[in-house]
Amino acid sequence: MSHSLLSDANQRLEKALQYVAVDEDVAERLRFPKASLIVSIPVRMDNGTLRIFQGYRVRYDDSRGPTKGGVRYHPGVTLDEVQSLAFWMTFKCAVLNLPFGGAKGGITLNPKELSKFELERLTRGYVDAIADFIGPDVDIPAPDVYTNQMVMGWMMDQYSIIQRKITPAVVTGKPVSMGGSLGRETATAMGAFFVMQAALVRMKRNPKDTTVAVQGFGNAGATIAELLFSAGYKVVAVSDSKGGVFAAEGLDIPSLRHMKDSTRTLKAVYCKGTVCNQVEHTVITNAQLLELDVDILVPAALENQITAENGDRIQARYIFEVANGPITSEADTILETKGIQVFPDILVNAGGVTVSYFEWVQNRNGLYWTLEEVNDRLEKSITLEAERIWAIAQDLNISMRTAAYVHALNRLGDAIKAKGTRDYYIN
Ligand code: NAD
Repeated sequence: MSHSLLSDANQRLEKALQYVAVDEDVAERLRFPKASLIVSIPVRMDNGTLRIFQGYRVRYDDSRGPTKGGVRYHPGVTLDEVQSLAFWMTFKCAVLNLPFGGAKGGITLNPKELSKFELERLTRGYVDAIADFIGPDVDIPAPDVYTNQMVMGWMMDQYSIIQRKITPAVVTGKPVSMGGSLGRETATAMGAFFVMQAALVRMKRNPKDTTVAVQGFGNAGATIAELLFSAGYKVVAVSDSKGGVFAAEGLDIPSLRHMKDSTRTLKAVYCKGTVCNQVEHTVITNAQLLELDVDILVPAALENQITAENGDRIQARYIFEVANGPITSEADTILETKGIQVFPDILVNAGGVTVSYFEWVQNRNGLYWTLEEVNDRLEKSITLEAERIWAIAQDLNISMRTAAYVHALNRLGDAIKAKGTRDYYIN
């Protein structure tokens, strides 16, 4: 049965609408993406053949400013997925009070099958195809799954070639030497870490008695695992697309990361070298990782990981969604019944877009900040919004997820209403 991610995402909106006094026009506007672009990208492959790749860019809503959102390279990319990711970006930017709307992009491919030359040609071809749809005052792409700093650098360079002027603010997550911001690479995980620290202080939990499992060992997952390890948490399990490792007494995350960086896959480090020698560990699947009896579960890979099928078997006390959309709305209900507290993606992983905003501001001013300035500003804004969401959840006796949507809806509602809704025209 086909399952529409966008309609699932919309259910969160419908739920939150029960708790907010926004005009019906606001709700109607937010049910539909503003514009969706589908492009074909011809790429000359290294063996001389021509391959056509399918790409997307969706601008969901720009009531609060130019749209903002990452670009994903993955075989599972569809228009439906990109639209729902753009929907989440809209609410995420509003949660953090950034002057941005939401967007997302993607190309359907397995980037691991392309050479570096092919990947560069594909990226430049994608920018050629969407150049009229993006821009520093219109829509600003950023990294997401399987896109990195170098890909962002190519995008900025290609856009600048088309425009005949250097335009760093068209893309964020660039290499620092091309106008990127210090702290952007670690920002998603850093933001999640600040949210977790604030929540755990509130729950009077001690890091060293807190066990954590992290699904996904990429930019966001490996960095959050490392930050938690450094802060004294017991990170007992991590995984990537090939599978995972578990050690009851805790894994040595910096060594794992070092080995993954040199071997490309966690699987390759299972039984070789220092990691295996240091701690007794078990090889586990991604499904097993999600169902571990841990205090904190951090999904940091892809969407739809916790569903109606496995929701009942989840044993974690708290879930911090570093990935976008890892829990379906059906699973939300199951987890709530089980008393598992979920800290939602549109708050937890908003550090990435927040520092992307800082990067855009720095590009436009031509004045660059220190790492301390970036991290201080990030900590202040994400902690403040987490506290506000916490207060809404307590006040209305609703989940943190619904509270985050309520918080965002109030801000989106104000922006949409400022241009006139039925209240203004009819009454
Ligand atoms: P990444 O490409 O750096 O890493 C993705 C990781 O997920 C890899 O380790 C990969 O092996 C793993 N993975 C892929 N399929 C998997 C599967 N089926 N099971 C388990 N692991 C799997 O991507 P990223 O930037 O770290 O993004 C991860 C998540 O965080 C995504 O949901 C993304 O949308 C979200 N996110 C990222 C950012 C950012 O700034 N990078 C910001 C906000 C949200």
